[in-house]
Amino acid sequence: PVPVVTIDGPSGVGKGTTSALLAARLGWHLLDSGAIYRSLALKVMNDDLDPANEAQLAEAAKALRLSFQADGQHARILLDGQQVNDQLRSEACGDMASQVAPIAAVRQALLQRQKAFQQPPGLVADGRDMGTVVFKSAPLKVFLTANAEERAKRRHKQLKEKGVDVKIRDLLRDIEARDHRDSTRKVAPLVPAMDAHVIDTSDLSIEEVLAQIMNLVGQ
Ligand code: C5P
Repeated sequence: PVPVVTIDGPSGVGKGTTSALLAARLGWHLLDSGAIYRSLALKVMNDDLDPANEAQLAEAAKALRLSFQADGQHARILLDGQQVNDQLRSEACGDMASQVAPIAAVRQALLQRQKAFQQPPGLVADGRDMGTVVFKSAPLKVFLTANAEERAKRRHKQLKEKGVDVKIRDLLRDIEARDHRDSTRKVAPLVPAMDAHVIDTSDLSIEEVLAQIMNLVGQ
C-alpha cells in the first residue's frame, strides 16, 4: 500500500506548515482536509444554505466541485472554478467549518474524496481524524498539541503578517470554543489515535518538530 503519515491536532498548532514542509521534503502528496471542510463551509455561506439542514449539507458535500492544483509549494484551491485560498483562511470560514463538521452524513460524504489522495509515492494527511478514521491503518501517526495561549500567539503572528489586526484575547477565545466543539462532538472527535506519537510543540520550532517527524519516518 501507498505509505501515509497522518498529522492531526487542534487549530493553530502548526499542522498546516509542518505537513506542507514534510510533504515537500519527502516528495509526497499533501491532503489538507481542513480545506475540504472549509470549502463546504464557504459553499454554505455563499449559497445561503441552512447549517442545520443535515440532508441538504450532505448533498452539498457530495456535490462539492472542488479541486486542488499544484502551484509550486502550495496548492491552488478551486471551488466551482474560482480560486478560494484566501477566503478559506478567514476565521468565519473556520468557524462555519467546525459547525458543519460534526454532522455524520457530511463526514461520510467527504470520506472518499479524502481517501483518493492516497497516491504513490506517499501521502501526508493533515486534519483532525486522519489517524482515527480516514487513514486508520496508516503506519505512522502524529498528533501535535500546544497550549491554547501559544496557539493563539502563533495565529496572531500569522494574521499580522497578512495585515490583519486582531486581539490575542479574542483569538484565544475562538480557539478554545473551536477546540471544545471539535473534541466533544460525537462523530470523529478530536483525540489522538491510540497508536499516535504525541508531540507537544509549545516550546519547539517548526524545524524541531519536522526533525522529530522525519526521525519517526526513518529518513
Ligand atoms: O484545520 P482547519 O482549521 O482548516 O479545519 C477547520 C475545521 O474543519 C476544524 O475546526 C474542524 O471542525 C473541521 N475539520 C474536521 N476534520 C478534519 C479537518 C477539519 O472536522 N479532518
